[in-house]
Amino acid sequence: MNPCRKLRSRLLAVAAMLTLGAIMQAAAPVRPAAEPAGVPLEPRTVYLTFDDGPSRNTEAILSVLREEEVPATFFVTLAEREDYSDAYAALCENGSRVALHCSVHDYDRLYESARSYREDLRELEAGLRELGIPYETLVRLPGGSLNAQADPQVLREILTGLSRDGYTVFDWTVTSGDDGGEGQPVPLPPEEIARNALERGEGQSSPVILLHDSHPFTTTPEAVRQIIRAYKARGYRFGVLTADTRPLVFSDWWDALSGD
Ligand SMILES: [Zn+2]
Repeated sequence: MNPCRKLRSRLLAVAAMLTLGAIMQAAAPVRPAAEPAGVPLEPRTVYLTFDDGPSRNTEAILSVLREEEVPATFFVTLAEREDYSDAYAALCENGSRVALHCSVHDYDRLYESARSYREDLRELEAGLRELGIPYETLVRLPGGSLNAQADPQVLREILTGLSRDGYTVFDWTVTSGDDGGEGQPVPLPPEEIARNALERGEGQSSPVILLHDSHPFTTTPEAVRQIIRAYKARGYRFGVLTADTRPLVFSDWWDALSGD
């Protein structure tokens, strides 16, 4: 390829990545007329979701949830199960639910192919069964269903396969930014995370908030307390996601979920 074309294709690739990033950060999922079946989200209800746990912060997150009497949905991994084997059981307390994220959070390994993704998911489910942890067949893809780490065709195959096999796929509608997703140094001040969760959920009746249960994000537990109190003050309740909940995915994938 001549240097000019090479540069142009690089620029196009960068533009595509930026567009993808903008969609992931900004767009609440858009629903077409025909939606997959499932129980819709409750109105005036917040869904707190935590990816990547358990971690050193799990206990602090759980104690906030206990004190506030609020449940959450945990999309877990298995990577550090040896250190946190007791934590998995605690995640199910208080009406909270355990759901599926990945066994090992390694994008290259996960998204090499649809098959490698499913092998990882099988490992995760086998690990949870071994630990005796009840879980929902509810999946959040690492990076979300539209991410720059995976080839779109691989993502399409993954989503079609999950839908065919009866898994419910779930993204989010609000990024708290607790992972410094916009390139900020972590951990962020809890006030900033809480402000993101509030401002970005403005006008949403059923915000699904993305948070992380992961070692570096040590301010997340305090942010969660602030988020809960602020939404309570606005009259919101708190709910959990289950396998029966209607899937919520970034808009490009509705046709993949409906099997087209
Ligand atoms: Zn993750």
